[in-house]
Amino acid sequence: MEQLKMLWELQELEQEIAQKEEELQGLDSVSEYKRKKKDVAAFQEQVKLKKDELSSDKKEIRRRELELQQITAELNKLREKLYSGEIRSAKELESLEKKVNSLNNDKTALEDRILLLMEKVEGDEAVIEGLEKEEQEETAALQQLKARAQQDVHRLQKEIEQLKMEMEELLAKIDADLLEKYRQLSRYTQGRCISLVKKGFCGICNVSLPSSFRALLLTPGKLVYCESCGSLLVAGD
Ligand SMILES: [Zn+2]
Repeated sequence: MEQLKMLWELQELEQEIAQKEEELQGLDSVSEYKRKKKDVAAFQEQVKLKKDELSSDKKEIRRRELELQQITAELNKLREKLYSGEIRSAKELESLEKKVNSLNNDKTALEDRILLLMEKVEGDEAVIEGLEKEEQEETAALQQLKARAQQDVHRLQKEIEQLKMEMEELLAKIDADLLEKYRQLSRYTQGRCISLVKKGFCGICNVSLPSSFRALLLTPGKLVYCESCGSLLVAGD
């Protein structure tokens, strides 16, 4: 292949590589996965909080039940004493009765609290069961998104790798001074600076080139530049 034509091919490869690298940075599937990952983490945190609450309620139930046992035992003991007939003093009886009533109130309050907690635990267990199912589904969906994102990344990386290999091959074939010329030119232009001429038009700025350029373009070793955009012209078809 002709040197200039190879130079143009090199430029096109570099453009394609740059485009794919940009694509790699902004992959929709990757940002979708990252978004979902955040959502799932927030959801898991919510499930964990609910579970912690449940476990602390269950602990409180166990604690309150022990308390209830103690109060009940104490109450039974006092009642036994109250109705035993042992105590004769009216004042002492009154005081004991007061104590029994007070303990009985504590017992009722404790029973109410336990009942309330048990109902709450029952409700929360049902809620958590639902949340756990949802969590499983969300995690599975996240895994799918991850697989898709990884697939996209790998595909692009492979494509870039392939293009870079092609680029290396071309670089080995192109004369060093011509390459240097290209690097210099591309420093001043944004994007392409090698123009493939097609049907007498500049491939970059699309201007119609004078017919005298045709012969110049076909002269070996001659570098011809577009008068309009300054790019290096390469004879196309
Ligand atoms: Zn031009």
